[in-house]
Amino acid sequence: MFSGKTTWLIEYTKTLPKDSYRIFKPNIDTRYATHAIVTHNGQSLPAHSIDHLKPSIPPLSKKIKTILIDELNFFTFETIAPHIQKQLKLGRNIVGVGLFYDSYKQPFGSTLKLSKIAHCTEELMSTCDNCGQKTARHSYRKIRTKKQIAIGAGESYGPSCDNCWNILAISSSKHIP
Ligand SMILES: [Zn+2]
Repeated sequence: MFSGKTTWLIEYTKTLPKDSYRIFKPNIDTRYATHAIVTHNGQSLPAHSIDHLKPSIPPLSKKIKTILIDELNFFTFETIAPHIQKQLKLGRNIVGVGLFYDSYKQPFGSTLKLSKIAHCTEELMSTCDNCGQKTARHSYRKIRTKKQIAIGAGESYGPSCDNCWNILAISSSKHIP
């Protein structure tokens, strides 16, 4: 949610030897491209789409040492974790990014659980729409829907800090019929 997760991932690949990594993304996320990860400001890298309900990682050449996964939140822990464990056993590093929380402040998919077993984690914050502090770890929905997963960029979600979430979530639902 505007915290620069995908940008972070793309920057990370620049630290890796060329052709030593593969990027995967859930096939639910088709906002910008189906075979690429794309940042909000248009940077992109090729990525393999995998089924978000039944994810699997295809056999990879030995030269692939790092697997990067975008939008971990669109996979459940139960479906993605076994594939991550398998790749770790094969000696590969796994680097993933995802939202910790959905727009109801509930854990979103596998991200939080995976972060608990990761060797290291980094939480990226974005700028809160209400107070302007760079402490936004939540998002609020600008459109009304009861679905946890509604794909959207700037037009349907906004970043919110913990303190402002009630104000933003309630005022936006009032404004929208
Ligand atoms: Zn705030």
